[in-house]
Amino acid sequence: MRVLVISDIHANLTALEAVLDAAPTHDAVWCLGDLVGYGPDPNECVERVSRLEELVCLIGNHDQAAMGQIPRSRFNRDAGSVIAWTESALTDQTRAFLDTLPSRVTMDNFTLAHGSPNQPVWEYILDPVTADRNFEAMKTDYALVGHSHLPLIFQRPFDTSYASLRPIQWDEAMPLSPRMILNPGSVGQPRDGDPRASFAMLDTEDETWEMCRAEYNVNEVQLRILEAGLPERQALRLIGGW
Ligand code: ZN
Repeated sequence: MRVLVISDIHANLTALEAVLDAAPTHDAVWCLGDLVGYGPDPNECVERVSRLEELVCLIGNHDQAAMGQIPRSRFNRDAGSVIAWTESALTDQTRAFLDTLPSRVTMDNFTLAHGSPNQPVWEYILDPVTADRNFEAMKTDYALVGHSHLPLIFQRPFDTSYASLRPIQWDEAMPLSPRMILNPGSVGQPRDGDPRASFAMLDTEDETWEMCRAEYNVNEVQLRILEAGLPERQALRLIGGW
């Protein structure tokens, strides 16, 4: 099965459409959460994702916050103000869809979570120590996570007792080898210095993972952010990828 893996769309419809256009043929879509927050198109993004075929979609911390399930005080001022705007913008239909989303799912040999397998909504896996804690508790060989907006691959083979970071090779199918925690990066707000939308293609039969980028019209989204009255910083960061 060929799976398009996306995460952290953050209400950026232009980036989402670019990824869907750029993605090679696939049989399923796995979306790792944070469909809304930061960006200007929350309802449009949820509607577009909900129409994807063979979809597995998880809830993220921004989705939960926009539903009033996490207090805004847990976010920084900027993110909190966008959450308030998003909360008031969400339609009943969008809420109904977000309300169905699970926080952790197991698909064959893959654990899917927004943050981490251990703490699916809040924990960031940014370092080998946190990766190790998760490897120790994982019941599958692989975990797919988002949340940090950084394309990352941690590996910890069975004969090793510590996790390490693996360099990313773009546009190249990398063979999967047990065990790994993989982050496809962010569709709508990349933070690795590259403004292009980030995603991954997973082949569960060939057992390969390919990291990809899709260019999109950032200026168009920046204008919509400003028109919506959202913080200027959220527009600025898209062009620098931070
Ligand atoms: Zn996010």
